[in-house]
Amino acid sequence: MMIRRAYRYRFYPNQEQRIQLAQTFGSCRFVYNWALRLRTDAYYRTSQKMSYKETSNQLTQLKKIPDFSWLKDVTAVPLQQALRHLNTAFLNFFAGRAKYPRFKKKRNKQSATYASNAFKWDGEKLTLAKMKFPLKIKWHRHFTGVPTTVTVSKDSANRYFVSFSVEEEVEQLPKTDEQVAIDLGIKDVIVSSKGFASGNPKYYQKYQKKLAKLQKRLAKKQKGSKNRDKARLKVAKLHAKIADCRQDFLNKLTIRLIRENQVVITESLAVKNMIKNPKLAKAIADCAWGELIRQLDYKASWYGRILVQVDRFFPSSKRCHACGHVLDKLPLEIREWDCVCGSHNLRDYNATLNLLAVGRAVLAYGDTSGGDRALALSSQVSSK
Ligand SMILES: [Zn+2]
Repeated sequence: MMIRRAYRYRFYPNQEQRIQLAQTFGSCRFVYNWALRLRTDAYYRTSQKMSYKETSNQLTQLKKIPDFSWLKDVTAVPLQQALRHLNTAFLNFFAGRAKYPRFKKKRNKQSATYASNAFKWDGEKLTLAKMKFPLKIKWHRHFTGVPTTVTVSKDSANRYFVSFSVEEEVEQLPKTDEQVAIDLGIKDVIVSSKGFASGNPKYYQKYQKKLAKLQKRLAKKQKGSKNRDKARLKVAKLHAKIADCRQDFLNKLTIRLIRENQVVITESLAVKNMIKNPKLAKAIADCAWGELIRQLDYKASWYGRILVQVDRFFPSSKRCHACGHVLDKLPLEIREWDCVCGSHNLRDYNATLNLLAVGRAVLAYGDTSGGDRALALSSQVSSK
């Protein structure tokens, strides 16, 4: 199957490149914000949707004005791409998939996208338009396809990254009969119906104290001062470190689940958030769960696997997987319980077995409204 995937690497620009990039980032941000204002005004004045093409024509006019001639100092392609990004943001907004586009700030992540006519790639070296030398990239893995666009960015921890968007042939994994259900949690990021518990590396907790200390220091610094910038950079660096560790952990986890199983069943996050106690380090868990499901989703489609997300509430923890008996209540702190049928149930593991039954029924019936029916079916089966 042909897929489009991104390969991201860190790179280290030289002094000249750093200046060129800063100029390009600044110009892209300016064009993005300028066009956002144009489109917003047009919408308020005449309630009309401005197209990408119109903004592009206006940009051509803008560059002719002497006050804005500095826009010609950078390659035109990333500026056009900034307009395209804005257009996509508007399309997402009008389709109800995203919030209204926001202005980009200098302090946040900066980026610029180069289409294939604005970079040179010889399979080993990447040279951006107007640059004398190729970028010094730290290669940690290789790709074989041809990049259609490259995006360079600088994050709030001042690290530079280049992301190649590549069309590539992916070989699907050989089919297997294995199926698994996973329960997302805090103590273990996942518990599986095969009895596997992933643990939770707790990067956040490990660095939490340090982060709190740095944030406190940052709050005390005077606004606009050099020391404040330095303090902010330290906080950003620690956040970046935590995010990297989490990403690595989740990548290993998801590729293993996809390799070993034909079907992976999980509750949808909407359901998950309804059940979980908001006091429990929620923000961090949310982030990891969302990313975990995102990775399972695209890896499943690459490798010919099936991800089933059960998007209906059902009493997964309170229901005994063995006999179908449902408890009135089961407080969060109770991790194991004995059922009237004699089954000793570990809370999370029991939940995954229920989820497995529901997910299988969803697969068989082809829709996710079969939750109740699935529970009824599995009770029938187990009571025989
Ligand atoms: Zn039971």
